[in-house]
Amino acid sequence: MAFDRARLRDADVGGRTVLVRADLNVPLDDGTVGDDTRIRAALPTIQDLISRDARVVVCSHLGRPGGTPAAEFSLRPVADHLSRLLGTEVGLAPEVVGERASEMAASLDPGQVMLLENTRFEPGETENDPELSRGLAEIADLFVNDAFGTAHRAHASTAGVAALLPAYAGLLLECEVTNLSAVAESPDRPLVVVLGGAKVSDKIGVIDRFIELADQILIGGAMCFPFFRARGLPTGDSLVEEDGIPLAAGAMEKASGSGCELCLPVDLALGREFDPATEKRELGGVEVPEGWMGLDVGPRTAADYAARVGAAGTVLWNGPMGAFELEQFADGTRTVAEAVAAAPGFTVVGGGDSVAALARFGLTGRVDWVSTGGGASLELLEGRPLPGVEALEAA
Ligand code: ADP
Ligand code: MG
Repeated sequence: MAFDRARLRDADVGGRTVLVRADLNVPLDDGTVGDDTRIRAALPTIQDLISRDARVVVCSHLGRPGGTPAAEFSLRPVADHLSRLLGTEVGLAPEVVGERASEMAASLDPGQVMLLENTRFEPGETENDPELSRGLAEIADLFVNDAFGTAHRAHASTAGVAALLPAYAGLLLECEVTNLSAVAESPDRPLVVVLGGAKVSDKIGVIDRFIELADQILIGGAMCFPFFRARGLPTGDSLVEEDGIPLAAGAMEKASGSGCELCLPVDLALGREFDPATEKRELGGVEVPEGWMGLDVGPRTAADYAARVGAAGTVLWNGPMGAFELEQFADGTRTVAEAVAAAPGFTVVGGGDSVAALARFGLTGRVDWVSTGGGASLELLEGRPLPGVEALEAA
C-alpha cells in the first residue's frame, strides 16, 4: 500500500494549527506512565511539526473510559511525560472539544504543543459521530493521523475528522504501512513467517493470507496445540483453543496443496502448570502426556526455526514461541528472537507480547521494523483495509 496523497513533509504547516491524532494509549502504573514506547513512537511527527513552527494540538485515547470523563483515564500523566521527552511545556485541555479546548488551541504560539483530554471521554468517539469530528476539525487547519495502533477502527478522531480537513499520514503511520505492506507485497525470498502466541483464531487471517504469499510458516506457542489436535494427537493439559481446531485443520488442508510449507514443532518443553516454579521436562516429540502442559517449543524446533529465519530474505514474526513470561519457558522465544535480530534478511516484528519479548532480550534495535500496532498490524497483514488509512487516502 502506497500513499498516493500529498506527504506531510510537503505540507505548509508554519503558523498553522495542526491536529495530530497519536496513539498514546500507554499502560499507567500508579498514575505514572509505565512502558512509554508508544509516546516515543509519536515523537518524530510532533518534533517535525514543532521544528516547522506549527501550533500542535495532540489528541489520543487512553484505556476504555466508555464515553464519560473519569480521573483514572486522564491524559495528565501522558502530558507530563510528553513534556519531559520533548523538553517543552505541554498543556492539557480539560476536555476533548469545547470552549476551553478551543481557547487553549487558539492561544498556542508557533512551535508550541498541547494535548486534548482522552478522546474516549466523548461517547461520539467510538461511534464516529460527525458532531465530534466537526468539533475537533474546528480547532485546527490541518489533520495528521499518526495513530497506527487505532487505524483499524473508524472513530471520530481517526477517520471522521480526516474527511473535514486537509489530512496527512504522520511519519509513524506511514512507516508502519510501508514496512508491513512490503512484507506481503514485495518480499525478498524466501519469505518466512513465524507465528506463535495463545490463539489460532487471532492469527488465522494472517495464516490464510500468507499460505498464499509465504514460502514457510513456522508455528509455535500454544497455537500449535489446535494443529496437533486436528491431527488426532494428545495435548495433555496444554492450553488448547477448541474453536481453533477446525481453523487449524482448514489451514493444513489449504497449505498441503500450496507452495507454502507449514511447519509445526517437533519437540516441546513441558510443565505441570502455568507457574514460574513448576517442574519442567523436555519432550522429544509432541504427544503431551496427561498431567503435563506444553509451555515452550523444544530445542530442536527452536534451532530449526532459527536456521530458517537466518536463511530468509524476509522475516515476519508475530507471537511468542512459548510462555516466555515464565523464565523456564523463555528459551524458544529467545532463540527465535535472537535469530530474527541476527538475520541478514528484512525483519519485521509485530504483536504486543512479541515486541515485549524483544525488548526484554535487549534486541529491539536489531530488527528492521518493530510494529507498535497489535490489532491494526494483524488486520493490515491480513490484507484488510484500515479505516484510519483509507480515510486519508480518500480525503
Ligand atoms: P502477541 O501479543 O505477540 O501477538 P499473543 O498475545 O498472541 O502474542 O500471545 C502471547 C501469549 O501467549 C503470552 O502471554 C504467552 O504466555 C502465551 N503463550 C504462548 N505459548 C504458550 C503456551 N505454550 N502455553 C500457554 N500460553 C502460551
Ligand atoms: Mg498479545
